[in-house]
Amino acid sequence: MTQDKEPVYILPEDAIRQSGKVAQRNNIAAAKIVAETVRTTLGPKGMDKMLVNAAGDVTVTNDGVTILRDMEIEHPAAKMIVEVAKTQEDEVGDGTTTAVVLAGELLRQAESLLEKNVHPTVIAKGYRQASEKADALLSQLAKPLTPVDTMLMKKIAMTAMTGKGAEAAKEKLSSLVIEAVQSMPTFSKEAIKLQKKVGSTVEKSSLLKGIIIDREKTHPSMPSSVQEARIALLNTPLEVRDTDIEAKISITNPAQMQEYLDMEETMITKLVEQVVASGANVVVCQKGVDDLAQYMLSKENIYALRRVAASDMALLAQATGGRIVSNTADLTQGDLGSAGKVEETEDELTVFTDCKQAGVVTLLVRGATEHVVAEVERAAEDAIGDVASALKTGQVVAGAGSVEVELSKQLRTFADSLSGKEQLAVKAFADALEIVPTTLAENAGLDPIDVVTSLKAAHDQGTTWKGIDVYSGNVMNAWEEGVIEPLAIKTQALASATEVAVMILRIDDVIAAGKEEYE
Ligand code: ADP
Ligand code: MG
Repeated sequence: MTQDKEPVYILPEDAIRQSGKVAQRNNIAAAKIVAETVRTTLGPKGMDKMLVNAAGDVTVTNDGVTILRDMEIEHPAAKMIVEVAKTQEDEVGDGTTTAVVLAGELLRQAESLLEKNVHPTVIAKGYRQASEKADALLSQLAKPLTPVDTMLMKKIAMTAMTGKGAEAAKEKLSSLVIEAVQSMPTFSKEAIKLQKKVGSTVEKSSLLKGIIIDREKTHPSMPSSVQEARIALLNTPLEVRDTDIEAKISITNPAQMQEYLDMEETMITKLVEQVVASGANVVVCQKGVDDLAQYMLSKENIYALRRVAASDMALLAQATGGRIVSNTADLTQGDLGSAGKVEETEDELTVFTDCKQAGVVTLLVRGATEHVVAEVERAAEDAIGDVASALKTGQVVAGAGSVEVELSKQLRTFADSLSGKEQLAVKAFADALEIVPTTLAENAGLDPIDVVTSLKAAHDQGTTWKGIDVYSGNVMNAWEEGVIEPLAIKTQALASATEVAVMILRIDDVIAAGKEEYE
């Protein structure tokens, strides 16, 4: 007698499950698509992407992490690749495309090994081994950088900006970045503020010792410039409306209306009096400032700014030595920051100079349109990030595919010393590194096979820094040509690409809950 077996359900009805090879193949495919998407932007000859968000805002960019962030990717494995770009951005500030492209290629190489029935855990082990070895080899290849080596630092900044929207003015911008770095007693990336301003041209970008805020004084009769500024930093509004609490006032007759207005006036007067009593002659408010308050402040000859970004408030507190106060009643003289001069410029920016805490500088990035300025700003950010990262470890390498080809060669030698199937995985890892010169060549319209073959031949003759000249298609000495990058770009990109590839390889089951319905 046979009994019908009832099926057993352990998951909600609408859950979707993929297991084994299907799950693996789908995850790898999704990750590869992400890498393919940004691949065409890699290097000096990379193309740009135009992204349009739901609100219709347009971004034109070449920056890997910006593209991936704005794409709002949903596939879980694809999202893991996006995380690689974000980590790279946070840790180094550049090399996001490289990291993603490497991750995609590591998975593509792994796919061929899977087809040859190499077990995922063996591939994972081999990849880890290769990554560790690569790290050690990279530190041997790297060359030192000291903060006094202006020429070398400038090359790093220029390399970071090559092929970006800032290309035309990279000479000028690199000089500004280096000037910023060297003007600080102790260098800190956070102490460089990037301020973009639409109008004029990129060449008109400039560096200022102090802080520039993209706000004009709130009232025309306020002073345009204040010497010996005593600065109140407020994150509370100088107005009655627009508080965080929504209040409903019901007014039933004209007398009540007048009463309300009188009350409002009394409250604002009190707020302003408290500010004046502190002895401040400049007020920087993170929130709104009422018309009446503006007028009263101007009568007191106080320069006021409103709706200043929280990040700017923090920088101002750091630079002026002031304290951000959230209740005007608590504001005392001791909370005020100081600056030699606060001034409004012709193009409606406010400039804080001779600040108490020297060392904060602003790089004012100009450009003809919103899109240009935004992309130039991202390029400048990459340049600052690269110089900072190079100074932090004091180690640099040459780019243009040279370091990847050299590393690939040395890893193959290392693989020969191994036995078993891990050897295959280490070789696959070495092959994956060639995706960098391959892509640089492809994006430059060159034959990638020709390029990689001649690069490998050059490296076999013992020349470490032979890379690809994307403009001529010839092999060049990337070090001598000044294509210099911080070592950390490469180590970080390899580490996170390996990590995500291994993680995706080890997944053999995807269980997704059904989508919840939201209102
Ligand atoms: P990422 O987001 O990874 O930084 P980029 O578009 O900035 O991507 O491209 C970086 C790659 O371009 C690196 O491999 C770097 O060595 C290479 N590169 C930069 N400048 C040059 C150059 N002048 N010639 C050849 N390759 C270059
Ligand atoms: Mg870059």
